[in-house]
Amino acid sequence: MEQLAFRNGAALNLDQISQAVIARLAQIEVAGEDSPEPIERNGRLELTVPIGISVRHLHLCDEHVAILFGEGHSLTVYNELYQKGYYAAKEQVMVVGKRRCIETVRVLGPTRPYSQVELAQTEALQLGLKLPIATEGADPACKPITLVGPQGVVTLPGGGKGGAFIARRHVHMSDVAARRYGVKNGDLLDLFIDGARPTTLHGVLVRVKAGWRNEIHLDTDEGNAVGIRNGQTGTLIIPIK
Ligand SMILES: [Zn+2]
Repeated sequence: MEQLAFRNGAALNLDQISQAVIARLAQIEVAGEDSPEPIERNGRLELTVPIGISVRHLHLCDEHVAILFGEGHSLTVYNELYQKGYYAAKEQVMVVGKRRCIETVRVLGPTRPYSQVELAQTEALQLGLKLPIATEGADPACKPITLVGPQGVVTLPGGGKGGAFIARRHVHMSDVAARRYGVKNGDLLDLFIDGARPTTLHGVLVRVKAGWRNEIHLDTDEGNAVGIRNGQTGTLIIPIK
């Protein structure tokens, strides 16, 4: 690319320029953020992964968007998330528990087949709810919870049909990255976090989907407990099989 630039463009045709750009993009793709190289140390792989702190949020199905925000309403992007195609929406709802409510819980898009509310343990206690650690709202252990929007009210039934839970700590990975590291969907890994409160978190669930970028998700309680903020990194420990 540098060579091309020094030639001041005079001797280049469009084909040459586009070939150079494509070659450069392919390099970025291969060496890129989707599956960086882990370091082998003490008989295991160590992989630096960015950590996202998931603040309380919910996902909605299309039917519930219509009830809470009005027929024909669609979610609007507030900001894009680290995972491509996912976003925090402008829309927020009130979540009502047994004892209290939380007035602002942000909706994340796009919509899903069913609705689910993801809270930290501290928030569950404020609401007067005893919530399970789970991976999705379809888990039968999820609890009922009521959502209040500007246009309507919905109660999620829990018991496997959408409900509230505390998200299990997890790492997002593409299928390409998972193959490269020798892990599969459902594996549990250790995560070392350095800093003022050095900590190893166990049982980080591997979640694999094509197109995902490597990213660990902890909730606000976990982030606060280990003294980290959004965007810091941790070291994922991957056993060599
Ligand atoms: Zn996640």
